[in-house]
Amino acid sequence: MSQTKPRSPSTPHRQSQGGKDFRKRVQRSKDQPDKPAPQPASTPRTGNVSAKPCLNLKSGREKSLQRRHPWVFSGAVECIDGAPRSGDTLPVRDAAGNFLAWAAYNADSQITARVWSWSEKDVIDEAFFRYRIADAIKARRTLSLDRDSNGLRLIHGESDGLPGLIVDKYGDVLVMQLGSAGPEHWRDTLADILQELCSPVCIYERSDSDGRELEGLPKRCGVLRGVLPEKVEVTEHGIRFAVDVAAGQKTGFYLDQRDNRALTGTLAAGLDVLNCFCYTGGFSLYALRGGAKSVLSIDSSQEALQLAQRNVVLNGFDASRAEWQCADVFEALRKLRDQNRKFDLIVLDPPKFAPTAAFAEKASRAYKDINLLGFKLLRPGGLLFTYSCSGGISDDLFQKIIAGAALDAGVDAKIVKKLHAAADHPVLLSFPEGAYLKGLVLRVS
Ligand code: SAH
Repeated sequence: MSQTKPRSPSTPHRQSQGGKDFRKRVQRSKDQPDKPAPQPASTPRTGNVSAKPCLNLKSGREKSLQRRHPWVFSGAVECIDGAPRSGDTLPVRDAAGNFLAWAAYNADSQITARVWSWSEKDVIDEAFFRYRIADAIKARRTLSLDRDSNGLRLIHGESDGLPGLIVDKYGDVLVMQLGSAGPEHWRDTLADILQELCSPVCIYERSDSDGRELEGLPKRCGVLRGVLPEKVEVTEHGIRFAVDVAAGQKTGFYLDQRDNRALTGTLAAGLDVLNCFCYTGGFSLYALRGGAKSVLSIDSSQEALQLAQRNVVLNGFDASRAEWQCADVFEALRKLRDQNRKFDLIVLDPPKFAPTAAFAEKASRAYKDINLLGFKLLRPGGLLFTYSCSGGISDDLFQKIIAGAALDAGVDAKIVKKLHAAADHPVLLSFPEGAYLKGLVLRVS
C-alpha cells in the first residue's frame, strides 16, 4: 500500500489568519523554493466491508497510542473495516486485534482518527460529552480562573479530552470552533450541552480555522443558539476589551496571552513601550494602565487597530500617550531603526509563522529578523517580551533563534523569565503539541 508521508498537522489552538501578510512576504522571497502544498490525505485501505466498523493499525504502530497521544496518522493505518463515514466513532485496534481506543474517524485527513476515550467500556454519546464538558468547566472553576477575567477558554481541544473542539467564553457569549470531523459530527449535541451547562445568550460558531481545509471540512460561521448581542465585551484583570466575535481574528480575542499582558502592565511604569502585532491593543492597554510614558502599537489590520482605539476610550485611558500605526511590522521596525527611535520595553507577539515543522526554516528567519531589530531598538537595560505561537518551532529552537538575533544585533541579553499560555489553555502531558505558545522576557545590558 502506498502512503504519503504524514505531514504534521497544525496545532489547532491559535490560528494563523494573522500570518497571511507573512506568508505573502515569504512567498515573494525567491531565494528558497516553497515547500510543496499539503497533499490531500490518501484514503485509508478498506478492510472487511461487512465487518463492524473498526480502524486496524499496522504492526508496531500502536506505540504512540499506548503513550496516550490522541492522534492516529494515516501512515499507521493498516485498513478500515466496515464502511464508516467521517465523524463516526470507531474502535482502534492493534495488529493483534487488541482494543486501544475509541476515536473519531476522518477519511479525508492525514490524522485518520482522534481519540475520544482510552476505555473500552466508554460509550461515546451525549452523556460522554456532557461529562467531558462539565469536567473542563469544573477545572477552570477549581483553579478560580474566572476571578481574573470573564473571558476564558472553556474547552481547549485535545488537552481537555475533546480533540478538535475549542470553546471560548466572552461574558455570556460562547464561541465554538470545530476543527475536525469528530466534533463536526456532534455539533448539535455539543451546542445543546453548552447551552444547558452555561446558559449563554448566544453560541456563535467560528469554524473557519485554516486547519479545516486539511480536514476536508468547509468553513462555516454563524449563530448556533440564541442571538448575538450587538456588543460583546470582556473584562480582563479589570481592563475592558470589546470583542468582535463574528469578524475578529481567531474566535475574536487572544485569551492565551492574558497573564503575560498583565505582567507587562506591571513593569511598564514610566517606560517608552513598543507593542508589535498589537491586534486590538492587548499589551498596549495594560502598558497604558501601568503608567507607561508612551505606547507605540503596530498592526497590519486596520479593523484591529480601530477596535484597539475604541478599547482605550472604553477604559477612559489617556489616549495622548498612545500612538497607533497600521503597517507591516517587518518594515515598520526598519523605519524605527533608521529614525533612531529607542524604547525601554518591546513586545513582539507575531502570528503563527510556522503552523508545522515544514515552515520552520522560513519562520526562523522571520523570527530572527524581528527580534534582531527589536534588540537594536532597545535602550540599555530594556526588556524584550518575545513570543512564538508556532507549533512548528520548539522551545529550544525559539531560544536559539533569539540567541542568534541578540548576537547579530551586538547586544548582551539574558532570559529573566519564560512564559506560556494562561492556565485555561492546559497542556495534556501526552500531547506536547498543546504547549504551542512560548515566550521569553529578555533584559539587554
Ligand atoms: N498581542 C495580541 C495578539 C497578536 S495576534 C493580543 O494580545 O491580543 C497577531 C497580530 O499580528 C494580528 O493582529 C495580525 O493582524 C497581526 N499581523 C500579522 N502579520 C503582520 C505583519 N506582517 N505586520 C503587522 N501585523 C501583522
